[in-house]
Amino acid sequence: MATKTPITIAYGDGIGPEIMGAVLRILDAAGAQIEKEVIEIGEKLYKKGISSGIEDSSWESLRRTKVFLKAPITTPQGGGVKSLNVTVRKTLGLYANVRPVAAYPPFIETLKPKMDMVIIRENEEDLYAGIEHQQTQEVVQALKLISRPGCERICRYAFEYAIAHNRKKVSCITKDNIMKLTDGLFHKVFNEIGAEYPDVEKDHYILDIGTAYVAEKPDIFDIIVTLNLYGDVISDVAAEVAGSVGIAGSANIGDGFGMFEAIHGSAPTIAGQNIANPSGLLQGAIQMLVHIGQPEVATKIGNAWLRTIEQGIHTKDIYSYKYSTELVGTQEFADAVIARLGEMPEHFKPVGFKTRPLHKTFEYKRKTKKKALVGVDVFLDSVLSPEEIAAKLQSIDSKDMKLAMIANRGVGVWPESKPETFLSDHWRCRYLADDGKNISHAEIVTLLDKITEIGLDFIKMETLCTFDGEVAYSLAQGE
Ligand code: NAD
Repeated sequence: MATKTPITIAYGDGIGPEIMGAVLRILDAAGAQIEKEVIEIGEKLYKKGISSGIEDSSWESLRRTKVFLKAPITTPQGGGVKSLNVTVRKTLGLYANVRPVAAYPPFIETLKPKMDMVIIRENEEDLYAGIEHQQTQEVVQALKLISRPGCERICRYAFEYAIAHNRKKVSCITKDNIMKLTDGLFHKVFNEIGAEYPDVEKDHYILDIGTAYVAEKPDIFDIIVTLNLYGDVISDVAAEVAGSVGIAGSANIGDGFGMFEAIHGSAPTIAGQNIANPSGLLQGAIQMLVHIGQPEVATKIGNAWLRTIEQGIHTKDIYSYKYSTELVGTQEFADAVIARLGEMPEHFKPVGFKTRPLHKTFEYKRKTKKKALVGVDVFLDSVLSPEEIAAKLQSIDSKDMKLAMIANRGVGVWPESKPETFLSDHWRCRYLADDGKNISHAEIVTLLDKITEIGLDFIKMETLCTFDGEVAYSLAQGE
């Protein structure tokens, strides 16, 4: 008897308990060697006042098993609680979100029958840091944080995944025509890491046209690697184009950890009706079985699922009058898959999973660059005009720095402005050092003191630096 692998399981909210019940029955019937540790997370805990949605004992289970099969959970919208999904991903360092999306024509109606791609989404950084502030009455901000090690790790993971899974091309999607530093870093690192993989084709698309192509000509993609937010959107677009958000699964991978789930949410409006499709979570569970070294069980389930689909046994979300033969509920769908364990599909190409450990470790070598402080952006909350703000600021002696520019929501409005530009109460006042000079932190502190003394309300400041002489801050539009 093979030793059982302990896994942590959460039944989740909404349709979670039904689809998890169905999936676990399939895993058991297929002979998966797993030891289940069930934890409670999500809505029930939020209601008990546990705003993290997870208890300490559950973290202990996750640390022990390092494998998590998770049904979707309901995240209350707006303020109050943090998304538990994001908390788990970030706490356990699950930096790669791997979402294979394929079409199953003609049995699952699809707009794009050739869809067969894997979306590899950076899973920890970007706007998902959730660092937001209201800075003035009119303006709120979110910080988009992108790190070099984060980019290196996810880009390397994508290329290693391509090699391990015999995929030919990795496409990078960013918006670096606008976000030149953050998305620019991701694109730059993609090129650097990509150069180490000469046998894998590579290309890059700007987010807007890239997403349009995912929907319109998905067959040009093989693997997509992208930033957190874009990956979230692109993978739902891809899943819907493939046929249904109900059929795609996802793996969240970190060093030594794996969390497996469906890509969809808790679908509260159809909960408790036995109509949800358990296939997305089942695809997540198949990825989990490969991850824990039980690829033959994964293969058996994958082929039984394909056979069920091609025989037209469908849940409501994928039911069609043309190709479906039987409309079944969640549990009956699971019964149909169980009845076909050991059978091979006849229309679809059978799957044959192998556990393929990625052979590169993701070591990060920090390069020390020479950092020089060359200025400061001081952000103000004010209802004065740009000229009035400039006159006040110019009344202050700022030693080696000069007021170079004032911008409002990213648009330069002083010394040049256009009458059409809308002005909010949020200003960025850029001070730059006189030619070639460096400034000190003490000078910035003195400047901020003086700004306060003349009655201006500074809300934050950002230092302006160069690294090895390279300018490391963005220019305002029109600057
Ligand atoms: P959703 O994915 O739950 O539902 C979107 C649509 O798809 C709905 O029409 C739903 O009925 C349908 N659908 C989803 N899964 C299905 C399935 N298995 N079978 C048949 N139809 C299915 O997205 P939403 O409505 O935006 O979010 C609902 C809740 O889920 C929110 O609280 C959200 O925060 C949460 N959510 C959780 C996760 C997660 O736990 N990983 C992911 C996304 C959303």
